[in-house]
Amino acid sequence: IKKIVVLTSGGDAPGMNAAIRGVVRAALSEGLEVFGIYDGYLGLYEDRMEKLDRYSVSDMINRGGTFLGSARFPQFKDGSVRAKAIENLKKRGIDALVVIGGDGSYMGAKRLTEEGFPCIGLPGTIDNDVAGTDYTIGYFTALETVVEAIDRLRDTSSSHQRISIVEVMGRHCGDLTLAAAIAGGCEFIVLPEIEFNREDLVNEIKAGISKGKKHAIVAITEHICDINELARHIEQETQRETRATVLGHIQRGGPPVAYDRILASRMGAYAIELLLQGYGGRCVGILNEKMVHHDIIDAIENMKRPFKGDWLETAKKLY
Ligand code: ATP
Repeated sequence: IKKIVVLTSGGDAPGMNAAIRGVVRAALSEGLEVFGIYDGYLGLYEDRMEKLDRYSVSDMINRGGTFLGSARFPQFKDGSVRAKAIENLKKRGIDALVVIGGDGSYMGAKRLTEEGFPCIGLPGTIDNDVAGTDYTIGYFTALETVVEAIDRLRDTSSSHQRISIVEVMGRHCGDLTLAAAIAGGCEFIVLPEIEFNREDLVNEIKAGISKGKKHAIVAITEHICDINELARHIEQETQRETRATVLGHIQRGGPPVAYDRILASRMGAYAIELLLQGYGGRCVGILNEKMVHHDIIDAIENMKRPFKGDWLETAKKLY
């Protein structure tokens, strides 16, 4: 292979810039030509790409977001839209595409690979919801952000003997909530992997109050229930002031922590290694600290993320 191209897709995540930098610098040091596509699959379809050199990614390793931009582009599910995308790649003589994104972005990469254009997927999402990797790029940064927010809520909750409910991102994966809840010392954890029973939660909070607890922090993953409504219900049942906080997009921003930068750099360089070895249609992961790769189709269709049940058990002992 001689020419490759890189894009970022789906929700942005801290460390995506470091991943682009990793891909670009590793490719250049192997003598490859590198292009960058703006705004994910949308820019690929609209043929918005530019040649990158080593200076295109200068001062990028520490910057949050993605300088290439990202987009949601549901039209990419349409075969004729993808055919145009492949045509745009082929007319420039590009041999392979590196996609940095979450599982939705992997679906696009899987389709392109099936249609004859080799892609390598790098897991870039704060949700940590991608199969075939222990961690995704951006997760550890978001974790620090969430824990800092919980620390702040704790200070004010304690002072007012208040119950706080904090909603954490993760889509259908509770990893970010669970890890943040342990690090933030939350008393109650509600995760998408475990069936939610509102009255059980209320009873546990009441039991905590009767044991003399000054505050309660409930960490809950997004999309489980309306947390404002939950707060009203808990306040009614416990007669304690209860407030809901949705952390929202704050969790996506900020400079990447060191681990995300290292992970992104390693994964970016590994993607190039795989391409040089003739691989296509693979997704990169880290398992037990080692770089690994899986068939992108197999990862999406057959691999499941393991749920950290033992973490939850530990958290419960520390309530
Ligand atoms: P995050 O988890 O951070 O939100 P993501 O990559 O999962 O990131 P999505 O919006 O699900 O985010 O997917 C990103 C893009 O990937 C979509 O906007 C679309 O362009 C493309 N995509 C998603 N699903 C498919 C599919 N089935 N076929 C082709 N392309 C797809």
